[in-house]
Amino acid sequence: MNILLLGSGGRESAFAWKIAQSNKCSKLFIAPGNAGTGQYGTNIDVKVNDFEGIKQVVLANSINMVLVGPEEPLVKGIHDFFLADEQLRNVPVIGPQREGAQLEGSKDFSKQFMVRHNIPAAASRTFTRDTMQEGFDYLPTIGLPIVLKADGLAAGKGVLICLTVQEAQQELIEMLTEAKFGEASSKVVVEQFLQGIELSVFVLSDGNNYKVLPSAKDYKRIGEGDTGLNTGGMGSVSPVPFASDEFLQKVEQRVIIPTIEGLKQEGIPYKGFIFIGLMNCDGDPYMIEYNCRMGDPETESVLMRLESDLVDLLQGVAEGNLDERELKISDKVAATVVMVAGGYPGEYLKNKTITGIENVRGSQVFHAGTYMDGDDIKTSGGRVLAITSLQDNMFNALQQATADASRIYYDGMYFRKDIGFDLL
Ligand code: AMP
Repeated sequence: MNILLLGSGGRESAFAWKIAQSNKCSKLFIAPGNAGTGQYGTNIDVKVNDFEGIKQVVLANSINMVLVGPEEPLVKGIHDFFLADEQLRNVPVIGPQREGAQLEGSKDFSKQFMVRHNIPAAASRTFTRDTMQEGFDYLPTIGLPIVLKADGLAAGKGVLICLTVQEAQQELIEMLTEAKFGEASSKVVVEQFLQGIELSVFVLSDGNNYKVLPSAKDYKRIGEGDTGLNTGGMGSVSPVPFASDEFLQKVEQRVIIPTIEGLKQEGIPYKGFIFIGLMNCDGDPYMIEYNCRMGDPETESVLMRLESDLVDLLQGVAEGNLDERELKISDKVAATVVMVAGGYPGEYLKNKTITGIENVRGSQVFHAGTYMDGDDIKTSGGRVLAITSLQDNMFNALQQATADASRIYYDGMYFRKDIGFDLL
């Protein structure tokens, strides 16, 4: 099979690494990829939202399957684009069509979906410019802090946690009337704050059957001890020690099954990954959000523990017989430490030469914001590398990944040295 993978982050590096191990994959192409994905396949300089460009790549390279890494092309309808095209119709796309991608593309849609299918979630209401006064009336009724969410995609920045009603009022005004997050905040979901510990569970579905992939916890804040600004993700661990079998049973019964059944009942086709962001509130799962793709940097830790052939599983998704495919997960623990550029998540340094990758001993180095400049590997993005280690226990995995990160150097290099240590 010739496979095209769309994306250029650490998640896609991990996908490329795993796909390249499969003897079902003849040729792997990554568009646009990064300096690391080039080790596992051929990078092609086409952007993930350039559907016409992607079509040309698919036709020129006799692609038999497309795996979509990031959410944007899914929300923009890349799967629908394939289905509507005479020449692409029979090339399976792993990732939902536009309607299913609304689980991530619209927080209002996803909240209403949860309500319709009795999936436990924080109480909430959605407001627009026209109903802002009703929003002001609602704010004092849901307790503090108050969570405001821009309805649409906002590159991970559209969620605000307000400590007072006045602050929430001010933010609501800015979101609805001053387009604080552009078009994404023309609708705002106002939501009760959930107290608990966060984790993510990943599901792969062919629209009828599903497989539950390993759970993971990610670390979003830039600073050690979970302080400072939010980022795209500074590290992850899998499995999550506080997600007991009993808790995961509840997740399956209360969240996963109603989600898959709900999609079916509503006639929403869904072939792809579902990221379920949860809060563990005193042993009970509550939904925070859906994503219509895998998370980054959770994918790096999750795929490290996947012993089965990923391409076989994806083929099961494409053919609608995922129930006949084997899912085997390692009992070991995977930890990922993300190395970022100086200044990130603000204005950050670029074009710095990376050295020392060859000194890494017990981890896999997944590239994110990197590119090749002649023989040099240079930084291009905020998140530069993800260092993932698989070991017999969590302490060793964390220690190894952290030690290996410190063997790599570039000007301004930074990573958190405390990823996962709160879980020990
Ligand atoms: P989201 O984009 O919905 O994942 O929200 C981003 C982050 O905001 C989440 O990862 C949580 O840490 C936090 N968050 C979102 N909704 C809630 C909530 N209802 N209660 C507490 N924290 C929340």
